[in-house]
Amino acid sequence: MKHVKYGQCVKCGRTYSAAPDLTTCECGGILDIVYDYEYIKTRLTKEKLAARQERSMWRYRELLPIADSTKPTSLRVGWSPLYEEPRLAEILGLKRLWVKDDGQNPTASLKDRASAMAVAKAQEAGAQVIACSSTGNAASSLAGNAAAAGLATYIFVPSRAPKGKVAQLMTFGATVVSVQGSYEETFELSKQAIDRWGWYNRNAAINPYLSEGKKTVSLEIMEQLGWQAPDYIAISVGDGCTIAGLWKGLKDLYAIGFIDRLPRLISAQAAGCCPLNRAIETGEDWRPMEENTLADSIAVGVPRNADKALMAIRESNGLTVNVSDEEIMAAQKLLGRTCGVFGEPAGVTGAAGVKKLCEAGVIGKNDTVVSVVTGNGLKDVANAIKSCGEPISIPSDMDRLLSAFAERHIAVD
Ligand SMILES: *Cc1c(COP(=O)(O)O)cnc(C)c1O
Ligand SMILES: [Zn+2]
Repeated sequence: MKHVKYGQCVKCGRTYSAAPDLTTCECGGILDIVYDYEYIKTRLTKEKLAARQERSMWRYRELLPIADSTKPTSLRVGWSPLYEEPRLAEILGLKRLWVKDDGQNPTASLKDRASAMAVAKAQEAGAQVIACSSTGNAASSLAGNAAAAGLATYIFVPSRAPKGKVAQLMTFGATVVSVQGSYEETFELSKQAIDRWGWYNRNAAINPYLSEGKKTVSLEIMEQLGWQAPDYIAISVGDGCTIAGLWKGLKDLYAIGFIDRLPRLISAQAAGCCPLNRAIETGEDWRPMEENTLADSIAVGVPRNADKALMAIRESNGLTVNVSDEEIMAAQKLLGRTCGVFGEPAGVTGAAGVKKLCEAGVIGKNDTVVSVVTGNGLKDVANAIKSCGEPISIPSDMDRLLSAFAERHIAVD
């Protein structure tokens, strides 16, 4: 990999050659993949990219840590739509607003970007088995992308994981362990099992290639916007890998001269579980929190990628915003009704944050914003029904229909 220099520890600066099974530094720090941007500039131009047929995350292969001989994974991951939403922008009082619907990935979340990368790197490493622990989406995306590549998976999820995600896991043929405990306890058991059996490790933050997969979301956003950076990009935050990856992609594009300014990040967490935002807001080190939110994908009390996430938010001069479960569910409805986009609770937490910042007057009519929807609403229908209610339920009878409409003051005529 001529374009990759090495993996470098974000804590102590030590470097490691970029082997496909790279994990963390000896000091415990997380590694960041460092590129040779001068070399990449000689290989990739905007024109070359524009002419490319590949409509997936692999269209950016010059900026990804894969060998020249590594083929794109078989499921179509990435190249999700970026919708401009003028009506929602008007409701919120923003100059311009776009929604990036990453729920349209093959297993219906942004995690497919990291899992496809894990599969590609596991294949480079010659591994037959991949394992991870996950709040749900890393698991289902790994199980799906690995199944398509003919690799076996061992998956650890907390028992609270929503049924939709568990159904995906079982359908993709993973060996699934539902741990009766928190995500933290789930992570610990997976770590012991991975150490014991030597499986390829797809755990968040441990494997430094995963955020390189996730960064393709910002590469796409910028290409879809014609390389004109918005003022803000909003995204929900759990372990912190996603926001760190998103920032890495923006910095890559800046380094090779594809964009001439960097957006500010909006880090959205659930008020009931916001250890990273709390650290930014108080200026203190992060401390664990309870996992107290219905947004299961970001109910992460002990964030695994705190260093990189905090660095990303700070470097971007970013904003933090913490939203209640009610605000999350209100945003789910609002996106559904004004955009036709259905996100899971954690998927719409970024949008809930944007709404809250608009209402507080922190951002407004001079600002352009991209809000990333990170997961599809069909993954967790129970919470959506609880929040949006049940339909009219009647027999096939016109009189009953008329009276049902009358009772609900639905003016059909
Ligand atoms: C994993 C996930 C996130 C947060 O990503 P982190 O890397 O854990 O910060 C947000 N939304 C959804 C739907 C997710 O699955
Ligand atoms: Zn180190």
